[in-house]
Amino acid sequence: SPDLLTFGESMVSLRSAGPLCAGGSLGMHVAGAESNVAVGVARLGHRVGWAGVVGADPHGEFILRQLRSEGIGVQHRVDGSRSTGVMFLEQRTADVTRAFYYRAGSAGSGLDRDDVDRALQNGARVLHLTGITAALSPEARRAVEYAAARAAGEGREVSLDVNYRSKLWSRDEARAVLTPIARHASILIASDDELGLVAAGPGQSGGADDAESAMAAELLDRGVREVVVKRGAAGAGVHTAAGRWETPAVPVTSIDTVGAGDAFTAGYLSALLDGEDIAGRLQRGALAGAFAVSTAGDWEGLPRRDELMLLGATPSGTT
Ligand code: ATP
Repeated sequence: SPDLLTFGESMVSLRSAGPLCAGGSLGMHVAGAESNVAVGVARLGHRVGWAGVVGADPHGEFILRQLRSEGIGVQHRVDGSRSTGVMFLEQRTADVTRAFYYRAGSAGSGLDRDDVDRALQNGARVLHLTGITAALSPEARRAVEYAAARAAGEGREVSLDVNYRSKLWSRDEARAVLTPIARHASILIASDDELGLVAAGPGQSGGADDAESAMAAELLDRGVREVVVKRGAAGAGVHTAAGRWETPAVPVTSIDTVGAGDAFTAGYLSALLDGEDIAGRLQRGALAGAFAVSTAGDWEGLPRRDELMLLGATPSGTT
């Protein structure tokens, strides 16, 4: 059985070098938060499974070939009645990238409970979920709810990255669906502006740091073991019942920030699989995130284990 199992929608992403309105050539890539994490964890030497649905088209075949070539165990279903989802990615500036989706009604969005059931039969130490899949369709939402409850019931590690996508649903819709799912997570991962989608928090009183601590405390009370907060170029932090840890980002030249969060998650979960402590998990997450922002592509630049030292070790400590 794999060390890590994840499932979701992967799409063909068409990347432009400049503004899309100016036309020009497009590069064909695989995009998908869960497959990004799958690639990251596989490159770091773990056994990884990915489940998803693709159309009966070259786009779907491309996705499967790419994931297999990264050594990922692919458990897919082909839906001949729908197309593989597509997105255009316009890197407008080094720091600003815009996505334009052509994914509504896609094959990948039809992922259902049976797909997930098949994938879960092989077991896995860690099940990694994202809020994106829950936003795709009612079937996909039920698949995430089912997988989270089942894996948690079987005593597996469940990692949930909130990964809010405003193009897919409103914050209120996301909150209503993700708050109950988060109860099953042992590891809850969010950007600093996403914590409020899974915890109520203290309202308007106090500063941002107080609000984060209050929301983290609420999640820990509900059974989450590690609340991981991503802060972009400001690094990342973890709240547990035992205290709070912070790591700065690894200083690099940022050329393409897409995929930094998924890379961080891959590094964090890889270190967890290796039995590293919280500080070690944060450190590997920050290193993998730094690889993602300082290389082109969502996942192409992710490190193999023997490449982690290329960006050096970063200090990390307890606060
Ligand atoms: P995205 O959705 O774009 O992938 P995210 O909000 O999920 O982003 P970020 O917090 O932006 O994730 O990035 C994840 C991690 O990657 C950060 O915690 C940090 O360690 C690293 N990182 C992000 N931006 C930079 C940067 N400019 N320089 C170095 N490291 C970075």
